[in-house]
Amino acid sequence: MKCPNCEGNDDRVVDSRPSEDGSSIRRRRECLVCGSRFTTYERVESVPLMVIKKDGSRQPFDRQKLLIGIMKSCEKRPVTTQQIEQLIDQVERAAGNALKREITTSEIGELVLKQLRKIDEVAYIRFASVYRAFGDINSFFKEISSLLQNDSIDGSSGGGDEDFLSRTWEE
Ligand SMILES: [Zn+2]
Repeated sequence: MKCPNCEGNDDRVVDSRPSEDGSSIRRRRECLVCGSRFTTYERVESVPLMVIKKDGSRQPFDRQKLLIGIMKSCEKRPVTTQQIEQLIDQVERAAGNALKREITTSEIGELVLKQLRKIDEVAYIRFASVYRAFGDINSFFKEISSLLQNDSIDGSSGGGDEDFLSRTWEE
């Protein structure tokens, strides 16, 4: 496995364990060239899951793309990569349960939002603003006020995220 740090091609597995549902194996690896550690996941190859885009075109489900999108929403938030991986596992499983092996981008968005909301409210709002591409500012605030009615936002969001709010306003 190529090291993400130095691109060296020599590593050893330091830890190996199955995911909670047993559908994948998580391996911690140590690069023998630069010593940095990274994680790989091994899973059974199956019929590719197809994503139906807004314009009706289809493309294979890209786990990495979704991971990057969610990580962006979680920037500077107390959300671990492992939590995000688990979230994507859930999305993949929900989509994979459908016999047709197809899922629309909006279905993915809703699934992610449902899970992300339980993990971190700020990340949830960020993701919502991108994924739902709020047509107007009112629907954005509707989303926020529905969050504010939720007790769990008290205190947990720290100083709030005014930068993000003003950026959204400018867009
Ligand atoms: Zn390395």
